[in-house]
Amino acid sequence: MGYLRFGVSEGVMFWKKDKKEPERDYQKERLAMVEEQLRRRGISDSRVLEAMGKVPRHLFVLDDYRDSAYEDRPLPIGEGQTISQPYMVAIMTQSLELQGREKVLEVGTGSGYQTAILSELAQKVFTIERIPALTARARKVLGELGYSNISFLSGDGSRGWPEEAPFDGIIVTAGSPDVPPTLKSQLAEEGRLVIPTGPRYTQTLYKLTRHGDRFSEEDVTGCVFVPLVGDYGWKEE
Ligand code: SAM
Repeated sequence: MGYLRFGVSEGVMFWKKDKKEPERDYQKERLAMVEEQLRRRGISDSRVLEAMGKVPRHLFVLDDYRDSAYEDRPLPIGEGQTISQPYMVAIMTQSLELQGREKVLEVGTGSGYQTAILSELAQKVFTIERIPALTARARKVLGELGYSNISFLSGDGSRGWPEEAPFDGIIVTAGSPDVPPTLKSQLAEEGRLVIPTGPRYTQTLYKLTRHGDRFSEEDVTGCVFVPLVGDYGWKEE
């Protein structure tokens, strides 16, 4: 702990920190997050655990929330949007079953944190965000951290990215009323689509796997996401 020095200057009481408070040990907090929030709750993909133990989540949140970055909850990132709870990032990523050679589409760049995790685990990441200010901030942070296998797009991700399809994995990090047919059609054979769908304020996370024209469907967990706003999502309020 730094200590405080009190004094009076021109009749005004002041206090000043003489010593800088020590930096928080973010790496320690991150590894505790991996153990307590992820491994202990059943996340078992070692590559996902490793990536989440490596990516500095505190650099993706707003300055005011930096010290809460490794807590077990979503946090605001501005523009009325959120960075998802670490467990949700982990279970969604694990559901994609990435081995390292995949081409992945992310809908909802947000802070760019989930993008960084995907960038660690796949060969190439395409990410779409409808709010340009968030795309700009995520692009900056990811660039400064040296991630170079990511392509960014500002726009309506509910349409997907047809020019770059098919994708081995598609992850939607906003809640949709239904699974957009556009995204199903942009999935590669045996590709996985992970998406929260259901009513606006509470959804179920689904994992769809493509087998030709057929899609098998798995109910992963309950969840609450901000809405996917677009042609194949919710209409803007
Ligand atoms: N994955 C993000 C992260 O790690 O910070 C969290 C994303 S946040 C829960 C959902 C994001 O989806 C918001 O940034 C929101 O603006 C975006 N979004 C909503 N509808 C969208 C759409 N149609 N296309 C692209 N992005 C959309």
